[in-house]
Amino acid sequence: MDSEIFYKSALELEKLLDSGKLTSVELTKAVIERTKSIDDKLNAFISFDEKKTINEATQSDVRRKAGKKLSNLDGIPVAIKDLISERGQPLTCGSKILRGYVSPYDATVIERMRNAGCVLWGRLNMDEFAMGSSNENSYYGKVANPWDISRVPGGSSGGSAAAVASGETILALGSDTGGSIRQPAAFCGIVGLKPTYGAVSRYGLVAFASSLDQIGPMGRSVGDVAALFHIISGHDDKDSSSYPVDKTNHTLESIKNKKTKTIGIPTEYFGEGLDPEVRQSVENAIDFYEKAGHRIKEVQLTTTKYTMAVYYVIATAEASSNLARFDGIRYGYRSENAKDAIDIYYKTRGEGFGSEVKRRIMLGTYVLSNENFESYYLRAQKVRTLIRNDFMGAFENVDALISPVAPSTAFKIGEKSADPLQMYLSDIYTISTNLAGLCALSFPCGLSHDGLPIGLHVIGKPFHEHEILSLGYEFEQSHDFKNIHPAI
Ligand code: GLN
Repeated sequence: MDSEIFYKSALELEKLLDSGKLTSVELTKAVIERTKSIDDKLNAFISFDEKKTINEATQSDVRRKAGKKLSNLDGIPVAIKDLISERGQPLTCGSKILRGYVSPYDATVIERMRNAGCVLWGRLNMDEFAMGSSNENSYYGKVANPWDISRVPGGSSGGSAAAVASGETILALGSDTGGSIRQPAAFCGIVGLKPTYGAVSRYGLVAFASSLDQIGPMGRSVGDVAALFHIISGHDDKDSSSYPVDKTNHTLESIKNKKTKTIGIPTEYFGEGLDPEVRQSVENAIDFYEKAGHRIKEVQLTTTKYTMAVYYVIATAEASSNLARFDGIRYGYRSENAKDAIDIYYKTRGEGFGSEVKRRIMLGTYVLSNENFESYYLRAQKVRTLIRNDFMGAFENVDALISPVAPSTAFKIGEKSADPLQMYLSDIYTISTNLAGLCALSFPCGLSHDGLPIGLHVIGKPFHEHEILSLGYEFEQSHDFKNIHPAI
């Protein structure tokens, strides 16, 4: 058996499994061994249940032998960001406040992956409650970037990105509220899809900011990400914001189908603060698309300057309300020092939440308070509509937009942790996608002089994932980033 089986794509592995040259148990064991041998350096996993995982792989092998394969990802290990509920497994959200909590039910995405025969692998580290851009905010320790362990993997799905990039899993699920799938995907040199709001059910996802959150797939190739998206997407009765998407569009066959597109380049996304090497790689990618026959058109998104402010009002407002449920009574951790019921709330929340989460709860409570509601929250909602209109205006003339994913490559651990505003700027190019309810793909388009991955951001119209996947696939076919791995 190939010694680096864990670096193959899911779709290549499917062929090996079908031919009988490989079993899901062998593959799953290879991934588990890989994790055991390197994860003390990366800390990408918070927990895993080896026996349960191998058992699922065994069942997949039995099914396949009987000719009852459930999908093209049957038997493929998928690791899960630790904020998506899987029945019987711990769920921490990277927080002390959920220490000891075990999910009593499956999220819809988990149920769909089970029905597709995916092997549900371990629970991935993340910034506490998905708040962060560096994975330095986890109660379970920082995650390191496999390309350079002195650097951050990005956040908040940093565990997901590090695990995929280093072969600790074949695929992973992340979540994206303002960039948390795309920015870590860029920092770790992998592919990440932030689906359109409503394309994937949020049932069983622990809410951070409900009007922005989406679960999405992360993998080492565009085809793999499309295959997992195909499985998890679609309407769900348990999430009234979910939408009946046209699934026929997400197959590899349909994304291979190349059509000439008009691609918009937003002027505002190439201004001050963008690292010159990142800019160069993105411009090279734009040249590639132009040479391939697509039309390139400069567009203006004049509301870009409001994005950050609007996001940090809306996201914190929703977070402060969503996180009120962690009271020490219903879930996980409870302070042992409390003297009465009220004191339980105070002490549990005081001891259980980390400082970034507390900062957001305070900010959110402030903008929702009686005196401030109109001038902050309500105004932010209005500007959010302007941001959406700005994008929809641009999409009247273009099929997709291209920008950098993040202003820089992966930064050093500790470099930005003392300055929250600097940290927040890591998501300057990704946040508006969530505010406007669009879809976006991040995939590798270059390496910096010091060998760090650079990501390309392709933003699509609502429910047009197939178009951005198709552009990603086209780029991937002429570049070899999916076969370049970190030396860990
Ligand atoms: N980094 C952003 C934040 O801290 C986005 C997080 C996310 O997408 N979950 O809020």
